Amino acid sequence: MENGMLLHVDGVTKVFGRDDRQFTAVKEIHLSIREGEFVALLGPSGCGKSTLLRMITGLIAPSQGTVYYRGKPVRGINPYSTMVFQTFALYPWLSVLDNVALALEARGIVSDERFERAEKLVDLVGLDGFESAYPRELSGGMRQKVGFARALAVEPELLCLDEPFSALDVLSAEALRGELMELWTGRLLPAKAILMVSHNIEEAISMADRIVVMGKEPGHIVTEFAVDLPHPRTRKEAGFEALIDRIYGAIAGRTEPEMKEVGTAPGTPGLTRILPRSSVNALAGLLEHISPFHKGYDIYKLEDELGVEMHDLVQTIEMAEMLGFATVNAGDIQITPLGQAFAEASILMRKELFAQRARRLPMIRWMMQMLNASPERHLPWKVFYTALLPEFPDEMAERQLDVAIDWGRYAELIDYDDSDEMVTLEVSNGKTAAVNDRPPA
Ligand code: ADP
Ligand code: MG
Repeated sequence: MENGMLLHVDGVTKVFGRDDRQFTAVKEIHLSIREGEFVALLGPSGCGKSTLLRMITGLIAPSQGTVYYRGKPVRGINPYSTMVFQTFALYPWLSVLDNVALALEARGIVSDERFERAEKLVDLVGLDGFESAYPRELSGGMRQKVGFARALAVEPELLCLDEPFSALDVLSAEALRGELMELWTGRLLPAKAILMVSHNIEEAISMADRIVVMGKEPGHIVTEFAVDLPHPRTRKEAGFEALIDRIYGAIAGRTEPEMKEVGTAPGTPGLTRILPRSSVNALAGLLEHISPFHKGYDIYKLEDELGVEMHDLVQTIEMAEMLGFATVNAGDIQITPLGQAFAEASILMRKELFAQRARRLPMIRWMMQMLNASPERHLPWKVFYTALLPEFPDEMAERQLDVAIDWGRYAELIDYDDSDEMVTLEVSNGKTAAVNDRPPA
């Protein structure tokens, strides 16, 4: 066995159920992790990420193949690993300190040492001063910190995290990620390697050294990416954005950067591509409806099933196509892997997926560039309207702007204030950096 190799997953398959009701959750997974690595498993819900993690920690056994830890097959619980779950089952009647100490008791550590070590762990995760608080007195983020402390109490070599931030609000999640990264990059954690499950591309890039992308039906590894960016990583770096694109590409079943842009925008040669007049709600409804049908779906059936007019349906289908969420071929609509991901995503992830695509649309990109070039990053609505007028009749220019603002707002790329008729560039999530990027080749 190679030096420094901790985990080796060798051709592992997991089948649930038996006889005629079998279901393959993951198939022929190969994965290795060495000391010092932080690996993220990224994939849509249901692709078997948790199943794989449970086999690695020994909570369940593979149907085929073997999980090796330090060269030895894992049978039963893997004593070198622990798992941090989305939400931690803390004992409500025990204080923070007792919750952590209990994990040490389970390891047979004597009383005095137990509390000394529990104290240290509570400090380590930044809960100094909350030792005697009860779980109900803590915020979600703080409770998750107790969970981390408890997982770290057993000094696991391999720390497995199953979407540990996804039950937290955005700010707490961000804070906890930052704190974990400080501990990890500062070598303050007792763990030698981390394996984290995530369905958030940005989270994976901001934390991991290596991202393993999984696909579903059955769960399998699609590809992997090395992340060679210095910590702390921010989305503003060009390398970060480029990697987001490559990973989206992989999820969408492409290995190349991105498909080419759709149409043009004012000021560039050619006609401005008209944005279909549909909404994100209608888009979501359509994608959810067709997502179980992978081999394509008859468009004519949708009119009845969705209870919409053909005229509106066509607009929504065009929206899906334009954003890369579906393709249309001879009366059939087929959902793309990206559309599938959108249909199944959480509210936040949907926004993220949508924003990634919407910002590539020439019309929205053009608006963002105009706003970015203005000193205060906001401009009167009239400015855009006037610029569009040469290409559209009045009413249509107005409707086009309505659509662009509606989509841009949902994606949190731009905002519009009705009272003063000003359009503003959203800068809160650091997305401005990408506005100046060259369009993908
Ligand atoms: P993920 O964590 O990527 O969302 P999971 O590993 O939880 O995915 O699940 C993968 C697939 O296996 C899902 O379709 C799920 O319904 C199925 N599955 C998970 N655990 C079991 C089980 N104990 N019995 C039957 N099916 C299961
Ligand atoms: Mg899961």
